[in-house]
Amino acid sequence: MAAALIFDDAIDVSLVPHLYDMSPDHTGMLFMRSVPGDVLVLSWLFPRASRWILDRCGIRGNEGVSLLNKSDDDEEFDEDEAEAAMDSDSESPNGIGSVDVPDRNVYCIDLRDHTDPKVYLDEIDRIAKEKSVQTVDLMQWIQGTPKPEQLQRYLEPEKQLAAMRTDGSEHPEAAHDPVKRRWYPVIDYDRCTNCLECLDFCLFGVYGIDKLDRILVEQQDSCKKGCPACSRVCPENAIVFPGHKTPAIAGAEGDVSGLKIDLSKLFGAPSAVDIAVRERDVELVADGRDAVGASIGLEKRQARENPRDELDDLIDGLDDLDL
Ligand code: SF4
Ligand code: SF4
Repeated sequence: MAAALIFDDAIDVSLVPHLYDMSPDHTGMLFMRSVPGDVLVLSWLFPRASRWILDRCGIRGNEGVSLLNKSDDDEEFDEDEAEAAMDSDSESPNGIGSVDVPDRNVYCIDLRDHTDPKVYLDEIDRIAKEKSVQTVDLMQWIQGTPKPEQLQRYLEPEKQLAAMRTDGSEHPEAAHDPVKRRWYPVIDYDRCTNCLECLDFCLFGVYGIDKLDRILVEQQDSCKKGCPACSRVCPENAIVFPGHKTPAIAGAEGDVSGLKIDLSKLFGAPSAVDIAVRERDVELVADGRDAVGASIGLEKRQARENPRDELDDLIDGLDDLDL
């Protein structure tokens, strides 16, 4: 794909390390922040995860609608509907949203959806024609005019494809600084209502408040590797762990608990909150601290849920059926 795109005058291409692993001051992020026009990012991440990782690093814009991001049951989704979706207020999420959003589009596309590179190349071509993408050239930005050996790697598709399959850090020809694997929560502000439940729940100092009194992932690297506990207690499913194996936690559309009615309550299986409490206790004990169970950080949730829960609604519904 890089080999094909590098010859397209309308598009400038950069290969960066794994989005999630780069810090805001990484050269890859600095490059993307310097792009004045629309940005199109292809990664092996759910688009929602990519979008909010970029937002956290100051690469913001309106959500670009790609025809490739339709869900499986959106068979009839076409170009007109894509534009309608961009204009529609009816589906606006309830979250507090991003701030300081420039008037441009950021497109995020998941490379896991299709195996044929041509599908992506066609879509990039469509977007580029539609939006007349203006970007700066990575090689010139980093180290002046590209040298022949730098261009050469774009001319060897198999070699470049290998580079794209790694996270960049292991590839000797990566243009950017190496990165280490990381693990931290990413907030989807289109869903986040700033209830601060995650701030109360996390006992490891990961969350904080910014100068606008909005929730913020302040100490990313204080998060416990592999633990997604707070994503399970967020009432809006706004906390994403892009590397988690469960799609809903990794940023796929849908709820973390999966079902509107939590059947676990009927069959005695642990609820999402029970699992989160256990995951948090495991990390506390691993840190040499005492387990706290559900005694800390769930007061708001309990106050909201205890007077009446989904099981009450379900039982009332069954009563209404007069069975
Ligand atoms: S718990 Fe979820 S909705 Fe509430 S502040 Fe945290 S991320 Fe936002
Ligand atoms: S996963 Fe655990 S340590 Fe990480 S932010 Fe959430 S509650 Fe805190």
